[in-house]
Amino acid sequence: MTTRRKLLLGISGFVSAGIVLRSTSPAIAAADRLKLSEEAWRQRLDPDVFDVMRNKATESPGSSALLSEVGNGVFACAACDAPLFPSHRKFDAGSGWPTFLAAVPGAVTEASIGSQREVSCSRCDGHLGYVFSDGPKPAGLRYCINGIAMRFSAGVRMSSEV
Ligand SMILES: [Zn+2]
Repeated sequence: MTTRRKLLLGISGFVSAGIVLRSTSPAIAAADRLKLSEEAWRQRLDPDVFDVMRNKATESPGSSALLSEVGNGVFACAACDAPLFPSHRKFDAGSGWPTFLAAVPGAVTEASIGSQREVSCSRCDGHLGYVFSDGPKPAGLRYCINGIAMRFSAGVRMSSEV
């Protein structure tokens, strides 16, 4: 319950032009954000990673090696290395994409446009995937994330409980 309460207390957001931005914890400090030009991202990322993270493409289902990753650690942003999803929140949804119950608090930003809820990295704004409300109880969330947008770091522990 503590985690749930923190999430609820931490929700902040605004509504503008039909787009709702919501972060699950206090916004990442401006100094910690990574803002690069499109050209700089193009140079920094492999073309297939660029397509997903900067152009919101979706990788082919079943294509990610991270689908079978069951080690203890953290799944970090492929573009900026921010820790995004702890391994103990990963589950097999059978969708063909790495799937999680919850993100590291504050690590991802959700933008609701119509019925879609896009998930992106709070640090670099890189597109990660989508979150759906048909996940397992109690939270009922299913974060369906492109594996190519993440790196797995074995043995990394989060400083705060997620
Ligand atoms: Zn990032």
